[in-house]
Amino acid sequence: MTAQKKAQKLTPMMRQYLQIKSRHRDVILFFQLGDFYETFYEDAELCARELDLVLTQREGAPMAGVPVKKASAYINRLLKKGYKVALCDQLQDPKEAKGLVERDVVRVITPGTVLDDDALEPGRGHYLVALYGDERVGLAYADVSTGEFRATEVASPEEARHELARLQPAELVLPEGLALELDLNTEARGAGARLALTSRPPHEFSPDILKEHFGLISLEGLGLTDRALAARAAGGLLAYLKETQKEGLQHLSAPTFYSTLEFLQLDPFTQRNLELVQELRTGEGKNTLLSVLDETVTGMGARLLRRWLLAPLLDRRAIEARLDAVELFYQNELARRELRDLLAQVHDVERLAGKLGTRRATPRDLLALGRSLERLPQLKAQLRALLDRAQSAQRPQRAQRAPKRLQELLQTLEGLRLEEVARELRALRDDAPLTLKEGNIFREGCLPELDALKAQEREYKQKILELEARERERTQIPSLKVGYNTVFGYYIEVTKAHTKRVPSDYIRKQTLTQAERYVTPELKGYEEKILSAQERAQCLEYELFCRLRDRVAARVDEVKRFAQVLAELDVYAALAEVAKRRGYTRPAFTDRREIHIEEGRHPVIEAVQKEPPFVPNDLHLDEDETLVVLTGPNMSGKSTWLRQNALICLMAQMGSFVPARRAVLPIVDRIFTRVGASDMLAFGYSTFMVEMIETANILNRATERSLVILDEIGRGTSTFDGVAIAWAVAEYLVKRVKAKTLFATHYHELTLLAEKLPGVVNMHVRVAEQGDDVVFLHRVERGAAEGSYGVHVAKLAGLPQAVIERASEILQQILKGNPLEAIEGKKPVKPRVIVQPALFGGEPHPVIEELKKIDVERLTPIEALNVLAKLKEKL
Ligand code: ADP
Ligand code: MG
Repeated sequence: MTAQKKAQKLTPMMRQYLQIKSRHRDVILFFQLGDFYETFYEDAELCARELDLVLTQREGAPMAGVPVKKASAYINRLLKKGYKVALCDQLQDPKEAKGLVERDVVRVITPGTVLDDDALEPGRGHYLVALYGDERVGLAYADVSTGEFRATEVASPEEARHELARLQPAELVLPEGLALELDLNTEARGAGARLALTSRPPHEFSPDILKEHFGLISLEGLGLTDRALAARAAGGLLAYLKETQKEGLQHLSAPTFYSTLEFLQLDPFTQRNLELVQELRTGEGKNTLLSVLDETVTGMGARLLRRWLLAPLLDRRAIEARLDAVELFYQNELARRELRDLLAQVHDVERLAGKLGTRRATPRDLLALGRSLERLPQLKAQLRALLDRAQSAQRPQRAQRAPKRLQELLQTLEGLRLEEVARELRALRDDAPLTLKEGNIFREGCLPELDALKAQEREYKQKILELEARERERTQIPSLKVGYNTVFGYYIEVTKAHTKRVPSDYIRKQTLTQAERYVTPELKGYEEKILSAQERAQCLEYELFCRLRDRVAARVDEVKRFAQVLAELDVYAALAEVAKRRGYTRPAFTDRREIHIEEGRHPVIEAVQKEPPFVPNDLHLDEDETLVVLTGPNMSGKSTWLRQNALICLMAQMGSFVPARRAVLPIVDRIFTRVGASDMLAFGYSTFMVEMIETANILNRATERSLVILDEIGRGTSTFDGVAIAWAVAEYLVKRVKAKTLFATHYHELTLLAEKLPGVVNMHVRVAEQGDDVVFLHRVERGAAEGSYGVHVAKLAGLPQAVIERASEILQQILKGNPLEAIEGKKPVKPRVIVQPALFGGEPHPVIEELKKIDVERLTPIEALNVLAKLKEKL
């Protein structure tokens, strides 16, 4: 049956459904039927599956529904799985409808544009990303919940992928038919979440919409004039936002251009391998650099810290400016505590701004905003006092100067005129509701018109009390009382025992087992007055609230600026807090190509490992030293040391203190890490081929200002290939690329590089031998390790004593220079496998002869068992 024929047989409502659904094919349509949102056909089957709903039937169509009141929880579950939902509401009261109730889609909710609190994680941006281009790629991202909107251009799809890995968007908008080669699955938002893909017509990716929406004559102010691809991506993103957010985007910033070259580049693999925001094995965020550093007390601060961590800076002045701010809070314990206490009392102002801009702020949201704004004067006072103290201090230490960045933030705060807004918001009741239309929003004594209505309500309620007393008197019924319920309104209740005394002017309304309920014209008159006062008050409150919200929304830019200052202060104080708590120090930078880290530690392992205590290690590389060959037994701490040095560089450039006694660092432009294939196999990652491709990628992209971490590469192949490749890679890095490189390897042969190549130094992780045992000291020292410790590790792993002894003998032989063929055991044991070839060749064996005679086809199972037993006996 064609869809049309099917439609003809259906009721008007189902035809309405099909008609609206035909305009929203790629989303799940939630179709309002009274108190339920219903889904039909494939949507219903999908919802039944994904949401565990019961599938029913209506007019022969599968149907599944959820209560309107509980819809958001169900919607969030669908979004998490990458689906989109369109809300098709009843646009009129069914009672008023003549015939079919008018319905239409009022909102399309997608994973990247959702604004529900429960769907947003407080600590990370919720990004929608648009791409445009094929070779060069324009990329725009927006966080509707905060209004952040930015755009960039990158040289290749590969680099676009890197940027996606950093942003971890919830949804990606692409022009239809875009020929981009992207392996997107790896860059999704971590465990369990699926990246939603949305295709839009290419013509929507036009810069014109930007000018129109933001009222701009040109895109110059945004830095997008010569960036056609970035501007197109931003245009496509905005078009999509306007389509889904039908209610407004007042808080959305105009998209400014940024260059990925402003940041220390971290490719997706490096981001994962260094466990910056996600653990490598689990994909969770529990033991990561972010989890160690995140001492922020607001959602805004947490999000900013995460952004800084994934995009450390390259500009030394900007880095030092951040460090100055951190240092001031580091040294002023009291000021830090005061600030953090105060910040803990503000709400997520940035996301409140998002709700204002999209007209979704509830009375409770505005109450939260008001309370946060009330902290502004105190915040300014605190910051001013701190900076004055720093300024006037006579001590010449650098840190006692008032940091420029904090002064700028104070200036921003002083430029805000939000006290007026705060004052207005004081009119909201302390228990302001989540709903708009049920009144109880404003305090009394703030709005005269509302007060008058409330007074009227009170007056007539008083009159009812008087009536009650009067009627009690008149009827001589002591238990007579006036009550109220939502069905009958006010009534007079008389218990059954007294009904005989009820006067004739009472009108009976309801009979209960114990009592009768009546009304009188007088009582109804008062009720009308009360209800009309209440109704008018509710309407008035609704109206006043919407107007208040509009007035506040008109100041959304200032609210956002306030939020940004709060976020930044939160991050500085948090970094100072961690630095103090964990004994970090301020790093210094050098323009020379040298690295000096004294007593460096791995920030995460140090924080989570109780036993053994973490052993600090140095890294000293002078200008003419380029590559470290690090050897040492398994489990001695090679990988840890490699990563800790990379993390220290990264932390320094994001503006954090570092886990070291002293650090003098160059500013690095890129950090690369690669881990040998066999180490990665456990995670289902690489083959040797992938490992080589990734290594090639480093060799092509690293510069002499990069930091390269190679952890046992070349391991995925035979020893000789492995050594050869590792050798060649090291040579290339030293001679051509000149990037500072830390190369951990178990190929002892590579220590010879240091003799042949200037710029290569050997280091090893020292172990101590106690009798036959190895004790891991986790101490990294200069020079090549003496001997290989594989044998000792085998022992640790639980190999039988005999095997270990034999291995030691063989090792001794090899070390003496004996070729492998010459090695002989004292008590040669003939391995059983050697007998095997004789089974089917050489001397005939009686058992074989027997076997040959058997005709399997004619053997019953029992006979077969018997033959087997006989053969076994012979053997
Ligand atoms: P390798 O790469 O040499 O096999 P790892 O770096 O993976 O060794 O370290 C193995 C384990 O040793 C780590 O998980 C950690 O528990 C411990 N370890 C490493 N370095 C140190 C250190 N400096 N101090 C204390 N424990 C360490
Ligand atoms: Mg290792």
